[in-house]
Amino acid sequence: MTTDPRTYTYANEALRDRVILITGASDGIGKALALETATLGAQVILHGRNTAKLEKVYDEVDAIEGAPRPSIAVLDLASANAESYTTLANSISDEFGRLDGLVHNASILGERYSIAQYDAVLWQRVMHVNVTAAFAMTQVFLPLLLESEDASIIFTSSGVGRTGKAFWGAYAASKFAIEGLSEVLADEHRHSPLRVNCVNPGATRTNMRLAAYPAEDRDALKTPEEILATYVYLLGADSKGVTGESFDAQ
Ligand code: NAP
Repeated sequence: MTTDPRTYTYANEALRDRVILITGASDGIGKALALETATLGAQVILHGRNTAKLEKVYDEVDAIEGAPRPSIAVLDLASANAESYTTLANSISDEFGRLDGLVHNASILGERYSIAQYDAVLWQRVMHVNVTAAFAMTQVFLPLLLESEDASIIFTSSGVGRTGKAFWGAYAASKFAIEGLSEVLADEHRHSPLRVNCVNPGATRTNMRLAAYPAEDRDALKTPEEILATYVYLLGADSKGVTGESFDAQ
């Protein structure tokens, strides 16, 4: 690959008319990505569980000159089932007829316990929100993604999704699982226009990072807005044919 996605530079209209759903678009990296993709012309579907937070992001997107008006999809990944994903897929199908980008960004940290102390119910919740929900949504959305001539799925990994570290518990296990899910799906679609990749954002100034490292110097961290080039690269036409890879956004 000649392009380094971390320093990818893109044209103003790089994502014009692409229909892109971003999970966890109410805050942090997902919110920043929603604003950037809309600025680049994408028709963004803002997913989250908190209607009031999503409406604020909606207003921010709506205020961007030239950006298509976004849509909102409220769905709590902890409780959503196949029926809720199907309802959402049907409404996307009715309105747009296809999906060009699906960014699985939402996830939860759980608690920083040792495996010896990890609560089994919390373990299941983290695995459910971070992995099973992404699997279930992807499965239901695949036909819509295959309606696109150039679709891209991005799963969100983490450094602890590649090397396990003490006290990262279910979160680390869920990110290893996401890397695996991404590779399996990419291989299954190697001969289709659908590309599937993972992105590890790296340390980024968000509420999740604050919860994991409450004492660190936040000013030393990159902001969500500063780490988006890899995502834009993978969502746009320049990454056609790139699939089954795992990227570092920093
Ligand atoms: P964040 O600020 O905590 O945002 C997480 C997003 O996910 C929020 O929009 C949140 O909604 C949503 N979400 C959480 N649980 C949900 C549920 N049950 N249903 C629907 N939406 C839900 O986190 P972030 O730092 O931006 O993280 C984004 C991604 O990057 C995550 O996959 C994370 O694991 C990964 N990551 C982050 C870092 C980092 O340093 N920040 C490093 C490595 C990987 P609410 O607004 O309602 O809470």
